[in-house]
Amino acid sequence: MLLSLLGGDMSKFIEGDNRHQTTLFPERVDDFVSEDSSVRVVDVFVDRLDISGLGFKAIPAETGRPGYNPRTMLKIYIYGYLNQIHSSRKLEREAGRNVELMWLTQRLAPDFKTIADFRKDNGEAIRLVCREFVMLCRKLDLLTDALVVIDGSKFKAVNNRDKNFTRAKMKRRIEEVDSSIDRYLTLLSETDDQTPQHETQPIKDKLEAMQEEMDRLKKLEVRMLEAPGKQLSLTDPDARSMKSRGTGIVGYNVQTAVDAKHHLILAHEVTNKGIDRHQLLKMAESAKATLGVEQLEVVADRGYFKGEEIKACDDANITTYLPRPLTSGNRKKGMYTKEDFTFHADDDEFECPAGERLIWRFTTEEKGQTVSKYWSSNCPNCDQRNRCTTSNYRRVTRGEYDDAVKLLDQRVASRPDIMRTRRCVVEHPFGTLKHWMGATHFLMKKTEHVSTEMSLQVLAYNIKRVINLLGVKTLIEAI
Ligand code: SF4
Repeated sequence: MLLSLLGGDMSKFIEGDNRHQTTLFPERVDDFVSEDSSVRVVDVFVDRLDISGLGFKAIPAETGRPGYNPRTMLKIYIYGYLNQIHSSRKLEREAGRNVELMWLTQRLAPDFKTIADFRKDNGEAIRLVCREFVMLCRKLDLLTDALVVIDGSKFKAVNNRDKNFTRAKMKRRIEEVDSSIDRYLTLLSETDDQTPQHETQPIKDKLEAMQEEMDRLKKLEVRMLEAPGKQLSLTDPDARSMKSRGTGIVGYNVQTAVDAKHHLILAHEVTNKGIDRHQLLKMAESAKATLGVEQLEVVADRGYFKGEEIKACDDANITTYLPRPLTSGNRKKGMYTKEDFTFHADDDEFECPAGERLIWRFTTEEKGQTVSKYWSSNCPNCDQRNRCTTSNYRRVTRGEYDDAVKLLDQRVASRPDIMRTRRCVVEHPFGTLKHWMGATHFLMKKTEHVSTEMSLQVLAYNIKRVINLLGVKTLIEAI
């Protein structure tokens, strides 16, 4: 009865081929790969590269056997990152069973160690390949020559949070272990000779474990204080604790310069610095060199705001747009802020809201910047002093980058739309990259190797983006 019912159902569905009927399969591997498959782009793109000129190291030959061509290895990796297969073991497996990959490698299937070594040993060359693709986009007129958005995002490292120690974390951990030791000692002190051993022994064991943990932490503390930045990461020594979206992660800060026209990533950089304040000039110059332009407009968020960087960008013909950080709480309290004081360059004096002149007093050096100090002698008699200062005199500081910052404020005010453009442009690449990486993290350790991983991610992102824009056929013809 059941069998007859199943038999009846089966006839309603599309039936597959007989597994043992070999003649129904195409005879050429090429027939398995569709004409618009991205794997065809990878093949043509890598075949056109000047592999030795890019500095790829040949895979050493084993005794009696030639090594793998770097082109084959590069194709495997680009295919892997295009399809979110990042691990060398998974790539080894796919090379033996994935028809597209078999087509791409001409049925070569290197072992995972060879695959992993290629990525480890050719970081710089892979980075140059990423750049070669951007150059191709430039030739295809896919890039603007005017506007670039710079942004950074934090990506998790292989290093677990429990294996990262900063001074604050170490202090907290030591305090926790210390209080546990105290608790167990108190419990022990409450026992006596009459207390059965099965009650005291667990406490003694826990106490011993805590004392061992304390010894371990003390040793780690010494190492941490000797480490650069007084921070120790046990698995990946370069990974750093940093804030990301209100929470803490141990990872890397990935900087990108994204072209506003088609959201292609022009330049990228992996750093273990948790803040973006020192990245503006470096990323802007890198994008400018890639575009090969004389003048460039750059948009970034307030995390990049630094007078010195803004001035340096001005000097390098890079026009910046970024909002000021909201550091002063005085405005909220109804107090005067520095913006309420007008500078008169001819007199080298500030004019305050009460109409008084603040004259130059002295010039000094603060945090590597030359700053001048100004104040008025009339402050003690001023009827607006309660809105201005809690001291006897309101001092106003003028730094050497203030002119550049003032011009920046005027530029941002004149282009209110530009910050909206920033959001639209950067959300696309980082959204895609984060989605590709999912909840996972970088697989490699140390900045150098993590940078290689990010180059492969960026290359895959750009290839996919251009395929979406032009289609496989047009892109292959263009290459
Ligand atoms: S306190 Fe001094 S600087 Fe402030 S408004 Fe009065 S005179 Fe001007």
